[in-house]
Amino acid sequence: MTDRIPGFATLAIHAGAQPDPTTGARATPIYQTTSFVFEDVDHAASLFGLQTFGNIYTRIGNPTNAVLEERVAALEGGTAGLAVASGHAAQVLVMHCLMRPGDEFVASKKLYGGSINQFNHAFKNFGWNVVWAEPDNIGTFERAVSAKTKAIFIESIANPGGVITDVEAVAKIAKNAGVPLIVDNTLATPYLCKPIEYGADIVVHSLTKFLGGHGNSIGGLIVDGGTFNWSREKRYPMLCEPRPEYHGIVLHETFGNFAFAIACRVLALRDIGPALSPFNAFLIITGIETLPLRMQLHCDNALAVAEWLAGHNKVAWVSYAGLPNDRYYKLAKRYVPKGAGSVFTFGLKGGYDAGVKLVSNVKLFSHLANIGDTRSLIIHPASTTHRQLTDAQKTEAGAGPDVVRLSIGLEDKADIIADLDQALAAG
Ligand SMILES: *Cc1c(COP(=O)(O)O)cnc(C)c1O
Repeated sequence: MTDRIPGFATLAIHAGAQPDPTTGARATPIYQTTSFVFEDVDHAASLFGLQTFGNIYTRIGNPTNAVLEERVAALEGGTAGLAVASGHAAQVLVMHCLMRPGDEFVASKKLYGGSINQFNHAFKNFGWNVVWAEPDNIGTFERAVSAKTKAIFIESIANPGGVITDVEAVAKIAKNAGVPLIVDNTLATPYLCKPIEYGADIVVHSLTKFLGGHGNSIGGLIVDGGTFNWSREKRYPMLCEPRPEYHGIVLHETFGNFAFAIACRVLALRDIGPALSPFNAFLIITGIETLPLRMQLHCDNALAVAEWLAGHNKVAWVSYAGLPNDRYYKLAKRYVPKGAGSVFTFGLKGGYDAGVKLVSNVKLFSHLANIGDTRSLIIHPASTTHRQLTDAQKTEAGAGPDVVRLSIGLEDKADIIADLDQALAAG
C-alpha cells in the first residue's frame, strides 16, 4: 500500500472495514449481541475507566456500528462518529452534550419539519431554548446570538424547498460567537457537500434517508469535526469539567480532537440510550457502498423531472436549486456543484384540490412521508404533514395548499416523468 489518500468512492466501500479477524468474512458481520466478554478483571476495569477502547455493551458500542461510524466520519472528513437509533436521537445527544437548562441555541427557520417540532416542544421541556434565524438573511443569525447561546444549527440543503444555506457565512458567525456550528447534512450527504470543509464543527445525519438509501432502516449519526477548541471555550461542562462518572477525567484533555464524539457516546448515548441496532447498521453500511452512484443518479433524475415540470402548463412554479433561474442556484453551484439533491417542491395552478388529485393518481410514485429512497416518493403537505396548520401558517412553512413535495428515486427518468404526466392529465 502507498500512503495516497483514498478517493470518495473507495472510502464509501472500505473505510472502517477489514476482513473479520476470526472468520475472514469480507462483508461486515452483524454482531448481533448485547454484550462482550472481558479478558480479565483488569481489562474490564480499564474499559470502564475509558483507559482502553473496546466493547462492553451494545448500548455504548458495537463492532458493526463501529464500521458505520468510521465510514461516515471518513466520508465527512471528521475525526470520529457515533451511530444512534435515528436522526432525531442524534440531535438530542448532540444538544445534551452542549446545553444546560436555560441555555439557547440559534437555528435556521428552514429545517426538516420534525426538527422544528423537536426544537419547539421536546427541547423546551429540557430547558433548551431555540432562537430562530432566517437563512435567506444571514444577519439574523448574528443578531440572534446572545451570552446564553451554546450552538448554531442549520441544514446544508434544507427540506423541503431545496433551500441552500450559506454554510461558510454562518460558520464565521459561530466562530465569532465561540460556539460550534452543527450542520444537518442529511439531504446533501457528504457526496454532494462536506460541511466541515466550510467551517462546521459537528455534522448530524438521518441515516434513514440517502445514506441508507433504500427505505428500510431508521438510523442517525453524529460526526465530530475535530475543529472546535473546547479548551478555549470553557462554557461546556460535559467537555471541559472533571466528570464524576469517570473518576474526574476532563474529556477534551484526554481525547483531544475527538472529545466531542466521546462525550456523545459515554455521557449521552450511555445514559439516554437510543442505540442503533447492528442489523440496521449492516443495511446502512451496504447502502453507503453505492452512495456516489446513487446520489449522482438521484440528482440527474431530479434535474430532468424539475426541468420537465417547469415546462408543464398545470405547474405554477418549481423550487429546485439545480435550475438556473432558481434563487438558490448560485449557492448550489458553490456548495453542491455535483447536483442539488433530489428533494424539491413545486406548485400546482389548481391549488389544494389539484394536489390531492395528483397524489391519488400517481402509480409509480409512492404517496408517503419519507425522502431518500430508491423509489420516487410524493406528498402533498397541506393535506398530510401540515394539515393542522392554518393556510397562513402552511404558506409560511413552505407548505401552502398548492405545494407538492417530491423525492426523486432511481427509476428510469422517462418512467418517472411518464407517471407524473399521466397523473397530471388525469387531474
Ligand atoms: C428525516 C430527517 C431527520 C430526522 O431523522 P429520523 O431518522 O427520521 O429521526 C432530521 N433531519 C432531516 C433533514 C431529515 O430529513
